[in-house]
Amino acid sequence: MMNIGTKERASALVGMTVLLVGLSCLTLIGFDVWRCLSERSVQLREVHASVRNLAKAMQIHAQNAIDEADLVLVGVVERIETDGTGPAVLARTERLMKLRKQALPQLDGLFVFDREGRWLAFSQPALVANANNADRDYFIRHERDAAAGLLIGAPVRSRSTGHLVIPLTRAINAPDGSFAGVALAMLRVDYFTRFYDELDIGHDGAVALAATEGYLLARRPFSPSYVGKSLAGSQLLETVRKYGTGVTKEIRSAQDGVVRLNSIMRVGDYPLFVGAAMSKDESLVEWRSNTIVHVVCDLGFVLLLTLLGLQLARRVRETERARAQLVDAHEALERLNRDLERQALSDGLTGLANRRHFDMRLAHECAMAAQQGTPLALLLIDIDHFKYYNDEFGHQSGDACLQRVAATIRSFETDPSCVAARYGGEELALILPGIDGLAASGIADKVREAVAALGIPNPRTGRAALTVSIGVANFRANDTPRELIARSDAALYNAKSCGRDAVRLAA
Ligand code: GH3
Ligand code: MG
Ligand code: MG
Repeated sequence: MMNIGTKERASALVGMTVLLVGLSCLTLIGFDVWRCLSERSVQLREVHASVRNLAKAMQIHAQNAIDEADLVLVGVVERIETDGTGPAVLARTERLMKLRKQALPQLDGLFVFDREGRWLAFSQPALVANANNADRDYFIRHERDAAAGLLIGAPVRSRSTGHLVIPLTRAINAPDGSFAGVALAMLRVDYFTRFYDELDIGHDGAVALAATEGYLLARRPFSPSYVGKSLAGSQLLETVRKYGTGVTKEIRSAQDGVVRLNSIMRVGDYPLFVGAAMSKDESLVEWRSNTIVHVVCDLGFVLLLTLLGLQLARRVRETERARAQLVDAHEALERLNRDLERQALSDGLTGLANRRHFDMRLAHECAMAAQQGTPLALLLIDIDHFKYYNDEFGHQSGDACLQRVAATIRSFETDPSCVAARYGGEELALILPGIDGLAASGIADKVREAVAALGIPNPRTGRAALTVSIGVANFRANDTPRELIARSDAALYNAKSCGRDAVRLAA
């Protein structure tokens, strides 16, 4: 059975193991949570940068396309305003327009209309029958406002090619400043959508080119029905209205609920802007799968650590239990040894030191007295006529009597160095270190009186009570224990000789 100290130590060790395992798990999880969060913010920063770069690329692409087309328009207008609309000029202009159309892939067609809207020159191979563009928005606006400059109109389907196009127009003025016609460059919508298709925007990403007035010009994902569609109420237009252009914002789509990072940029000085958006969730897909792998690994590690911790705690308990058993066994063995030692050194009947112990102690005390020059006395005590007692009361009563006498003598062991011993039979002894012969004789007399005072009857002696005779010897320098005993014995003999119940000091 484990003792309390062992239980406490085992609990403390188990507690430390639990603490160690717990701290290791917490450190690991804490570090991984921190790592995952910082990886997430790095990933989001990268998406921010990507979406801004996308918007920038779209902005440059749109601006270049419009700049190039406008450069052609400015050239055509300048030629017609300078050289007029004679057949030779128109033929040269038409040649130029055809060359420009071939060179610039964004162009679907170039046209020059007179003040009535009739086609004067065009890059198309053939004239469309009864073609007249006086009804187009741009025509009406140029007619009304001679200083309108470059107009970018809402997308229309081209009458000559059937393509979806964005009209870019500039007014042609007569030398007197009056309205003389319009030069038109048609930009292909698919020029933009093809470019947008090449951009890496993921599955849930979206990009768009739109007019600040609030309608779409091109977008991805693309559908012809989107072109020219009003942006009223859309997230894109609301963002532009709220934050302006040149911003990157995180916005939840009202349509599909997807949170996207939106970057919006104005296209030069034109009334256009581009918007690029990438799904936040989609951008974090790789991070999420990495995180799941990490979480699974962490859980596995925590489980493993817990199992190892439990195993360790069990081992600790087992070891402590085994240790406690060993300590118990050791203590039991020590107790047994002490008992055996006591038994080996004490007399079974009286409990006094036995003869072996007496010899050892006397030898020791003699050596000490010789070495330190201190006094030492030995008393040999013999019960008078003990044989009679036995004969009168029986051997068992004799044993009990011996025990009482022994107990009386033991009461004179006033100092730890004193030894009361059973010398043999009914003969007892008292070793008195530090006490000289005279003082020892005094003590011996007291012993004698104390035994007599027990009042043990010994009828055959003719005395009132059982008595003892005592021989006292004083240690002399160079005495051997044997010599000291012999002199005590001689003194005892003297005491017996002079009638017993007496004390004699050896000469
Ligand atoms: P005295 O010494 O006065 O001369 O007479 P005594 O009768 O005591 O002398 P003796 O030495 O002849 O006898 C000693 C007796 O003590 C003999 C023996 O029966 C008894 N005796 C010795 N040891 C024991 C013991 O352990 N128990 C009992 N009951 N008696 C013992
Ligand atoms: Mg005797
Ligand atoms: Mg005797």
